[in-house]
Amino acid sequence: MTPPNDLNNLINDVHWLMDILQNIDAGLVVMNRNYEIELWNSFMQNHSGKAPESVLEQTIFSIFPELPESWFKRKAESVFILHNAAFTTWEQRPYLFRFSHYRPITGTAPHMYQNTTLIPLMDSRGRVDHICLIVYDVTDTAINKMAQQQANEQLKNLSRIDHLSGLFNRGYWENRLLQEFQRFDRYQLPASLIMLDIDHFKRINDTYGHTTGDDVIRMVSRSICLQLRDADIAGRYGGEEFGIILTGTKAEGAAHFAERLRLNIEKLSMILANQPVQFTISLGICELNNSIVNYREWLERADQALYQAKQNGRNRIEVHSPE
Ligand code: GH3
Ligand code: MG
Ligand code: MG
Repeated sequence: MTPPNDLNNLINDVHWLMDILQNIDAGLVVMNRNYEIELWNSFMQNHSGKAPESVLEQTIFSIFPELPESWFKRKAESVFILHNAAFTTWEQRPYLFRFSHYRPITGTAPHMYQNTTLIPLMDSRGRVDHICLIVYDVTDTAINKMAQQQANEQLKNLSRIDHLSGLFNRGYWENRLLQEFQRFDRYQLPASLIMLDIDHFKRINDTYGHTTGDDVIRMVSRSICLQLRDADIAGRYGGEEFGIILTGTKAEGAAHFAERLRLNIEKLSMILANQPVQFTISLGICELNNSIVNYREWLERADQALYQAKQNGRNRIEVHSPE
């Protein structure tokens, strides 16, 4: 028989444990084999607004119908059967219970982000008839991490983008040209390249000034952007020269694209001192084929076609012929 002193100590220990469980800054839910709740601590009460009386002996799924039952059971069953803990992070699933959060520092989060752990509770006979779900509020960590990821993404984009035109810069664009060339080499997927250049641009600069010249570059870039499909890749190659990679497109399709762009830009105008300023572009097209040995040669052939368009009077397109 346990001496009275030891019994007192034991009762004290249990009381203390209960106080700790109630006041710890994490959610604790003990469930039996039928997913009926047997312990519900203050964290869970405060954040869910549900008092223990209203949840005890109810199944977790009846209290939280939005909890994905089959997914949760799959995790929990492995804890019951294998006696191993199971974890979920906010990155896999932002939360298990949709709780709001009210800390000013994380004012941007729509809900509490949670990491959760399921642990087996073994009885004195070594059986696991209960499991404990521990819910950690990781909103601060999640918000910081997401903000950092967003900043990294923006930085990466900044280093790829030409700031005047908003298109890819030459370095990044040439890299994509190389990739597209390699894709053709391996899988023979068609691709066409358009090089284009603003006609008599020096004249625009000389007549209206460099700032107007910059505006023209922006207008041409916007026109290109408006006409691009998601898979196409446009970059500013040099001063008033641009490159467009049309993936999965043969010369004929590229010529349609180029002609439409040419017409759209011809129609644009900018009003300066009550006078419309208009401008045109010339375009050279080259479809990738097996006689082209590397991406530089692809670029040179499109450039030759562009030179031809200039020679033939500007404001026109020319397609490089493979012969
Ligand atoms: P062509 O029809 O043969 O292409 O004649 P062009 O006058 O357009 O060709 P050229 O290459 O002689 O002139 C291009 C000019 O573009 C020269 C350069 O000063 C100007 N330029 C280059 N980059 C920029 C820029 O970022 N902004 C402005 N405003 N002008 C630029
Ligand atoms: Mg030019
Ligand atoms: Mg030029």
